[in-house]
Amino acid sequence: MRKKVIAGNWKMNMLPDAAIRFIDGLTPVVKDSQNEVILCVPYTDLFYSLLAAQNTNIKIGAQNLHWEEFGAYTGEVSAPMLKSIGVQYVIIGHSERRQYFKESDDIVNKKLKMAHLHDIKPIVCVGETLNEREEGKAVEVITNQIEKALEGLSKEQVLKTIVAYEPIWAIGTGKTATADDANSAIKSIREKIGMLYGADVAEEVIILYGGSVKPTNAKELFSMSDIDGGLIGGASLKLEEFENIINYNK
Ligand code: PEP
Repeated sequence: MRKKVIAGNWKMNMLPDAAIRFIDGLTPVVKDSQNEVILCVPYTDLFYSLLAAQNTNIKIGAQNLHWEEFGAYTGEVSAPMLKSIGVQYVIIGHSERRQYFKESDDIVNKKLKMAHLHDIKPIVCVGETLNEREEGKAVEVITNQIEKALEGLSKEQVLKTIVAYEPIWAIGTGKTATADDANSAIKSIREKIGMLYGADVAEEVIILYGGSVKPTNAKELFSMSDIDGGLIGGASLKLEEFENIINYNK
């Protein structure tokens, strides 16, 4: 039985004082939660957030890392640096990074390997554009992205990888994929993983949906057979909305 994972992606929002207040507010809400709750925060919030989340049910993640361990990469942050302060998760290959920072499938793959090398759980994002969906290419695009992202990973590493299916046209737009469409896209990712790594891995790997998840649609989405929770952008910035998403089944 796969557990549910609810991960927030704060993107380039939240100063440290607001981050601490948010985590303090969320702590009692997730105290007895069966769901895994992760907040992926900006680099400048990491240290404060890790301290605030100590001894709580909240896990802290970063939103990116570099594919090398050290070196002349001005402005970048590496996996050993994240690991040294206790970061447990990292988002890799978010569509905003693929689009604005030209992250290729090859870079995404290198970053995934680096995260695993340092025992940081990656949340790897895949998703199609509106054009690709309208041309009937969504499944081809996302299964290709997943194959390239996971290339060279061991079964154990794939099992420790969280996948997020995030149709690009649904991110930050208020448009959500229907629960059936999201479920069938996620099923096709699971099938691809099954072909590459075996049915046992496909059955166990956690796959989230992301794209305008709100308290009003979380229950329908997260109740689908193949959707194991969500990667939440905008609604993870508002404590009450994020709480209601975490408590979607109450
Ligand atoms: C995201 O950025 O990963 C995301 C899903 O954003 P939103 O929930 O705002 O669409």
